[in-house]
This record gives sequence, structure tokens and C-alpha cells, in this order.
Amino acid sequence: MLLWSVLNAHGGVLPEDVHVLYANTGKEMPETLDFIRECSERWGVPITWLEYADHDDPQQRWRMVDFDSASREGEPFAALIARKRLLPNPVKRICTSELKIRVMKLYAQQVLGFEHWDVLIGYRSDEPRRVAKLAAPHKEPFDRSAPLASAGVSAADVGAFWQRQPFDLRLPNMNGKTMHGNCDLCFLKGGKQVFSLIREKPSRALWWIDQERKGVPDGKGDGHLFRKDRMNYETMHALATGGHGELFAFDDEEIEDCACTD
Ligand code: SF4
Repeated sequence: MLLWSVLNAHGGVLPEDVHVLYANTGKEMPETLDFIRECSERWGVPITWLEYADHDDPQQRWRMVDFDSASREGEPFAALIARKRLLPNPVKRICTSELKIRVMKLYAQQVLGFEHWDVLIGYRSDEPRRVAKLAAPHKEPFDRSAPLASAGVSAADVGAFWQRQPFDLRLPNMNGKTMHGNCDLCFLKGGKQVFSLIREKPSRALWWIDQERKGVPDGKGDGHLFRKDRMNYETMHALATGGHGELFAFDDEEIEDCACTD
């Protein structure tokens, strides 16, 4: 909706100095990749697909891909974990910073030649805490803003917008929010949501189990878990596939958007 608003404000054409980027972690739902391609095709707007690429030189840790060549088995994410010898967690979110923010920053600097730029984020007016954090002091060469929030656009408005469109994300929607967005079993999602996503498709847990098994060389300490404050992915998978999930009480949290962009 943010992209559509930018296009709409410029006669349906993307201004020359505006660029649309998608940083693929390889762990998004296939519907997300389909949706990004569909936005590009239906609205006639170029979208640049980027991924983390492993390289000894930090300046070369990115590559351009497209819908066909984009990773779908978590390859960029696994490569980052192997490089850092560390699993990301809610406190040390190296996945957001390296797979998304840094990849886009390198592209902006090396290909677009930007020295300073503005980043538009699609936060809504019902996310004041996230919006407020955008104004925090930083040392990045870009400033971030949330035009939809500034315009008072809420989750309900976004839902209504997509109902008027001839296409949408095609992922289950609960009051304008989806627990299927971003990386499929992101550790920032609530335990109940992750458990439900595993139960819906148990094979989703396998990549996460694999990373927790090999995330650090000795497999000891908290560094080999995505979350130390709840059961690991292997246990959730065993409960989900063994039919005993109801025996374990997760916090009864609401569906919340994954806070990856915070
Ligand atoms: S969606 Fe979650 S797992 Fe994926 S990059 Fe963001 S914080 Fe990391």
C-alpha cells in the first residue's frame, strides 16, 4: 500500500530517484515472493531483488537476484549463520541487520551511488511504538520515516485497501495481520504462532531445527538457540507432530506483526 501511495502521488510512475528493493532471506513464504512479483508486474514498477551473499570481504556480501533465481531454502540465512558462527536471537538480530538492512545499504551505495538517502517503512498509525523508534539517533547514512503512519493509515485501512485490489498476498489474514509474513518461523513470532505454523506444515520446522543443531561449533550455551526463553524448534516439532501440543501452554499472545523492521 505504501508503494501504491508513492506511485499514486506521482501519476502512477515511480520517480527517478525512488527505488524499490526487496531483500530476500530465503525463508519467506512462497506467497510473499509471488506477491512481490505481482506488485511489480501489475503496477509496472521495477523491484530490485537482493540477497546476502557470503564473501570474505564484507563489502561484497550481497548479490542481485530475481524471482527465478531467488533462494527459497534459507540459503542466505544459513550462510550468514555459518559465517558468524552464531544464531540470531531477539537481542542480537544479525539476520535483520545483515540479510536486509546491510544488503540494501550496500546496493544503495555501490550501485545507486547514494551518500545519504531516505528509507520509507510501511508502519501504520496503530504501531506508534515502532514509529517512535524511527526517530532514535543513529549513525546510518539514511533516515527512516513511516508515511502511512503519518497519514493516519491503520491496519483496518490497509485491509480495506487490499480488498479493493484485484490481487493480494494470499496468506491467511486475521484483522489485517498475518502470522505467515516474513521468515516462516521467525523467532520473533509468538510461541503459539510458531507452534501453529509448524502444526500446519511440520516440514517448516526442519530448517530451524537444523540451524539450532549446528549453529555454533560445540552446540553448547545459549548461542545455539534462537530463543532461550522457550522450547527449541525440535521440541515444538515433536509436540506438533505427536499431537501433544495442547499439553503445553504458550503465552496467550495476540497475533502481532513480526518486528523484523524495528
Ligand atoms: S523475519 Fe525474523 S528471522 Fe527473518 S530476518 Fe527478520 S527477525 Fe530474522
